[in-house]
Amino acid sequence: MWDLTFTERRDLSQTRVTIIGIRFPGRAHIEGRLMTHPTKAPLDADVIVVGGGFAGVVAAREVAAGGHDVLLLEARDRLGGRVWTREYSDADFDIEIGGTWVLPGHEAILAEMQRYGVQATQTRMPEHFVTRIGDDDVRRSATPGDSALSELAAAMRTSLSAAEADADSLAVVAETVGLEARVWLDAWTSYLMGAPLDQTSGAWRLLLDRAALQDIDAYSWKVERGAQMLFASIARDGAFGIAVNTPVASVRRTQEGVQITDARGDTFSCALAIIAVPVNTWGDIAFDPPLAGSRARLADERQPGRSVKVWMIVDGVTDFVRTVDPFGGFAYLRTERLLPDGRALMVGFSHADAMPEVNEAVVADALRRVIPEATLVSIDAYDWNSDPYARGTWMAHKPGQWVDALACEGRDGPLIFAGADIDHAAPGTIDGAVRSGLKAGRLAREALEAESPR
Ligand SMILES: Cc1cc2nc3c(=O)[nH]c(=O)nc-3n(C[C@H](O)[C@H](O)[C@H](O)COP(=O)(O)OP(=O)(O)OC[C@H]3O[C@@H](n4cnc5c(N)ncnc54)[C@H](O)[C@@H]3O)c2cc1C
Repeated sequence: MWDLTFTERRDLSQTRVTIIGIRFPGRAHIEGRLMTHPTKAPLDADVIVVGGGFAGVVAAREVAAGGHDVLLLEARDRLGGRVWTREYSDADFDIEIGGTWVLPGHEAILAEMQRYGVQATQTRMPEHFVTRIGDDDVRRSATPGDSALSELAAAMRTSLSAAEADADSLAVVAETVGLEARVWLDAWTSYLMGAPLDQTSGAWRLLLDRAALQDIDAYSWKVERGAQMLFASIARDGAFGIAVNTPVASVRRTQEGVQITDARGDTFSCALAIIAVPVNTWGDIAFDPPLAGSRARLADERQPGRSVKVWMIVDGVTDFVRTVDPFGGFAYLRTERLLPDGRALMVGFSHADAMPEVNEAVVADALRRVIPEATLVSIDAYDWNSDPYARGTWMAHKPGQWVDALACEGRDGPLIFAGADIDHAAPGTIDGAVRSGLKAGRLAREALEAESPR
């Protein structure tokens, strides 16, 4: 498990902002330790960051590095947000419950790993393949057949602008191709978006070239001992205060800046606030004045990414296999590693419309459809879609939301919006969260430094 012992940090009493648990009785609960202090007083900071996922902690570190007082308010009892490393329910090894793999081109997160001396490691590439095209049609190749791939690549190619392509869903593309191409497009969307075709923006046509469609296994690099350890490193590195168990209920602009109120009614004031919570939770925060334009639409409609990620220990699988089966099972399933006892640790992905309930019977059935000789031993999964501080998994754009999401990131008066969901370069990824956090940190420093030049 990750370790975050704040007492090991530099002397926080030297800074005006300290860990808030020292000020507010019973609030900060870190690794089972309750930190209390007799006084209760409103707390001011130059910048308050709302949300302690990658975007929030990176933004907090960057602003604090400029010598500004920064306080981060996090609703849960841990940092990490949609990245969460914890022990498998009935085994003694860790699994990534949320974000895990990155691409070799995800430079921002790779730079964070390098900065903190954390190794990247690759999940072994699959060597055997099962693709269910229909009840009686099972293929064994790693990629779509040549003609299906050409058909798919041609159907995805478009001369439309992002805004024009955004008007339709990928279901429109799927209607124009044959069954094999459709199976792959559906699997790609279900696995990498966590959403069905008819809820996924056609703007993805602009990013999915032939090479991407051919390489469904590209997400394979991960943090060696768990992504969560990066949060401990960033929290130790940055001179900013952290309050966990502090869900923000309202964000109000004032003459001086921003007043933030948490669910207990405690208030905090700051010159600038960085809002780094998932877009699907924006609607739970009372913004005054209310969000407008693209932000209001995204908050209201919510993005459709509702992935189902299931870890499983399996008997009868002794190699590195990857399966594709979007109509009735796991859209994507692969061996993560072989365990010392001869069993396999596997991970499967579907989305909530296709797999509304996750239990051993459902998972065993999905597994049997593609690997009949496998026996399910146990499962471990977490329901991010019902989690009040996520309300979904990662950014998948509904038709129309591609354009809206691009307009959401950045500064609006004393508020700066950040997060993987609205990042421009790598939306919906860990890398996108880091990029957006870096950008928000830079914007906040520029704004503060413009107001009071040193
Ligand atoms: C199951 C799953 C698998 C994934 N797999 C991958 C993968 O393999 N590769 C990849 O690149 N990405 C993956 N992702 C996506 C990636 O994890 C996210 O895009 C990224 O971590 C989001 O970071 P963030 O900082 O923008 O948001 P978050 O991590 O969601 O952080 C936002 C924080 O805000 C907090 N919060 C919410 N509401 C409030 C409030 N009212 N007050 C205070 N705090 C609040 C939350 O608790 C959270 O800590 C996956 C996500 C999930 C869920």
